[in-house]
This record gives sequence, C-alpha cells and structure tokens, in this order.
Amino acid sequence: MQEDQFTNSKGKYLIKTYGCQMNEHDSEVLAGILQDMGYAKTEKMAEADVVLVNTCCVRESAERRILGELGRLKQYQDRRPDMLIGVCGCLPMQEGSRDRIRQRASHVDLAFGTGNLHRLPYLLQKAKNSEETVWETQAEEDTLPSALPRLRTEGVRAWVPIIYGCDNYCAYCTVPHVRGRERSRPPREIRREVEKLVSEGVRQVTLLGQNVNSYGKDLKEHQSMDFGQLLRSLDEIDGLIWIHYTTSHPRDFSHQLVDTIAGLDKVGEHFHLPVQSGSDRILRMMNRGYSRDEYLDLVQYIGRVFPDASITTDVIVGFPGETEEDFLQTYELFRRVRFDGAFSFMYSPRPQTAAAEFSDQVPQDVKQERLQRLNELQQEISLERNGVLQDQVVTVLVEGPSKRNGSVLKGRTRTNKLVLFEEDERLVGRFVRVKITEVQPFQLFGSAVGEVKPAAQSACKNG
Ligand code: SAH
Ligand code: SF4
Repeated sequence: MQEDQFTNSKGKYLIKTYGCQMNEHDSEVLAGILQDMGYAKTEKMAEADVVLVNTCCVRESAERRILGELGRLKQYQDRRPDMLIGVCGCLPMQEGSRDRIRQRASHVDLAFGTGNLHRLPYLLQKAKNSEETVWETQAEEDTLPSALPRLRTEGVRAWVPIIYGCDNYCAYCTVPHVRGRERSRPPREIRREVEKLVSEGVRQVTLLGQNVNSYGKDLKEHQSMDFGQLLRSLDEIDGLIWIHYTTSHPRDFSHQLVDTIAGLDKVGEHFHLPVQSGSDRILRMMNRGYSRDEYLDLVQYIGRVFPDASITTDVIVGFPGETEEDFLQTYELFRRVRFDGAFSFMYSPRPQTAAAEFSDQVPQDVKQERLQRLNELQQEISLERNGVLQDQVVTVLVEGPSKRNGSVLKGRTRTNKLVLFEEDERLVGRFVRVKITEVQPFQLFGSAVGEVKPAAQSACKNG
C-alpha cells in the first residue's frame, strides 16, 4: 500500500514525550511526519484527533506514570470516539508490555517501536479501520530513521542522533533489549544534516547516542570514522558555534579523546560521564567495564586539561547486593569528584535484564534513604560549584522564554549550565554576555551585559 495516499488527512495532533533526549528527538520526527500528513499541532488534549505517547521504560516509575496517563486518555476518547491514541517508543518494545498495556489501556489504537516511526501514516490508517490495537514493534533490519522529516522545536539548538542502540548490556539496563544493537549513521550523512541545520539558523548541535564513544565501530571500513574524527569533521563547519554530545561511556572515553576535544574550537567543556556506582564490587556486578580508580583517573585528567569543565553524572543507588559500605564508596566518590550535577536514581528491576534476577534486592526504604542522602550532598556541591560563577560574566546561547515565566529568557553556557535572565525576546538565538547575580544548584540567574559579535562566538570558551 502506498503510504503517501494518506497525506491529506486533516486534524490535530498532540505528542507527549517521556524519557531521554533520544525520545525527544524521535518526537520531533513524529511531529514532522504528522505535519507532512496535514495534521496541525495542538496543546489541548480535548481537541486532538491523534494523541501519541512516546514512552520510556528505563525505570519502573516511568512505566507506571505512562500506563496511568494512557488510562486517563480514555475519558477524552469517550467524548471524541474518532480520536486515535498511540503509544510508541521504548515501552511497547519491552517484553510483556503488550499484556500490561492491554490490561490498563485496552482503548489504545496503535502501538509501535522506535524502529517503526516511518510507518506512522500506514499505522494510523490501519488503526482507523481496526477494532484491535494495531501493534508493530519489529523493525526491518538496518532501517535508520535518519531520512525522515522532523519538526525541530528549539530554533537555535538541534539534536542530531549519530548512533542508535547499545551493545553494552549493563546488568540493570533495558535499553539494549528495546533499542537493539549499535548502528552508527554514516559520517557524511551526519555532516550534511548539521550543515543544513546551520543554514537554517541552528548554532548549537547536541550529538545523541546511548554511547557516543562507540560511534563508528560498526561502520564499513571505507566510511569508517571514530567519535573524535567525527567531532573534528563537524568542528570545521562554518556558522556552527557549539557542539555538545551525550551520553559518554567512561570505559570508552580515552585520554586521547580528551586531547582531541582540547584541540577543537567548538566542542563544549561539558562532560556527562555516568558513574553509576563508586564501588568496584557493584561496578563489576553492573558489568560497567571500568573500576573506581579508572573513573577517577579520567575525571582528574579532564580536570587537568579543562580546569573550567563542567562534569555531570548518572548514579544508581540500591543496586542488588549494594551494602552500606558500597553506598559509602559512592558517597565518598561524589565528595571527591564534586560533580556539577547528578541524575540519581533508585535501582528498579526491569524485564529481561540480568540484575532483575539477582537474589539480594535492596529494600525500598533503604534505597530511598540512600537516595536522599546522596541528593542532599549533591545539592550542596552543585551550589558550591555554581557559586564560583557568582558575579562572573558568562556567554549564553539564548534559547527562548523560560517555560515558567515568559518575561524571563533562558539559555545555556558552553558548559551546559542553565542561565535565566530578564531581557526582551529579540535576543533569542543570539550569544549574550550575562553577569551572574544569583546561583542555585540547578540554575543561574543574571543580567545581560552585551551581545557577542559573530566573529568572537567560537572563542566563547569559558562559562
Ligand atoms: N546510555 C546512557 C543512559 C541510559 S539510561 C548511559 O549509558 O549512561 C539513563 C540512566 O538511567 C542510566 O545512566 C542509569 O543511571 C539509569 N538507569 C538505567 N536503568 C536503570 C534501572 N533499571 N534502575 C534505575 N536506574 C536506571
Ligand atoms: Fe544502558 Fe549501559 Fe547501554 Fe547505557 S551503556 S544504554 S546504561 S546498557
């Protein structure tokens, strides 16, 4: 069946996104496809003809929230029986999710996975004519979603996936099970996409992958390029000012890559290095492939090469078998490294993962208590780290009005710190010098003191 025969449908769509930047990016692709089909975006559930919930299943808490959300959508569909409700992304790809979705939300019309985005026009049409939930989670091998239209939301910043999937099989993680093996996009295709984005006004790109440091390992020899070489190639693009990337795997982040980044003008001094645990015993059980000392050595090396770098992390407390002693190793590592920020999670068992089968699961109240202790410590440290910027002038790429207060603009520094300041919207998309007047653990406040001229923008190394 020809997919483009459905492209003239009219109506409104709403997409709700859970999870990581990869999901945010997939939602831009879904929005692009729906707009191409003639759908218009709405923020109001009550007037949507198509509602897509793009899901995450990394932790059970996210899954619970999503199933609750899908359940609540029924009331809207009862009022508008033609409304199509779809669930997509990671959750439908997880083993056993079909039954859980059927139990909690049998009114869902379509469900599809991260490799099936391009099939949306066909799946919607099929769902219109079907009593059953239309389900498609098997992707054809080797289809990369990179050639699809996408509707970017942030004008001056854009996400660019460079590698899909993950080969690591960390013992707690569902990602390789739902997103499949690593597949790198060809370097030329990435470069062309970034050049096009820059010609459309984008000034900062964030390269995305579950492990960007694996980039290129699966490419055929004639187009082979590793992550450092990819950064070097993108660094040459005129008009692009800053390059960010996420996520890095500490095991694969070599000193050589740190040196490569030091030699490039545009790559920001932000290193997101998920440590997951400070205990060697737990790191081994997690199958992370590095030791506590190797991690500390990497962080120290980064600190030597980039004294002003911002370093952030992800951590899991209450992994099966984690003793108080193991936890204290993590706590002590946090005190030693003094991260700028950390995403801290309580371990949650996920289907198909090795750790879900481990016998000595940690009780919920112990996990909660450890999480709280670590969060309290990290808040103090984040505040101290941000305190260094008090009264300093930093350069900010202005993204747009803040969500909470429309008269306040938000932007980020080259080290990825969030800065809020009062100014008018003419500065959106510009590089602005902002004097920091107040610091909090997760954001900085300031006032604009001037604009950075285009010729000097790449040199905005600090702040
Ligand atoms: N690819 C990235 C991110 C994976 S998911 C990486 O390797 O770092 C994002 C974060 O969720 C992980 O870094 C981890 O800290 C957390 N996470 C993953 N699975 C989890 C689980 N089962 N329970 C709790 N946290 C988990
Ligand atoms: Fe999950 Fe580990 Fe892969 Fe990250 S590197 S996505 S934590 S398996």
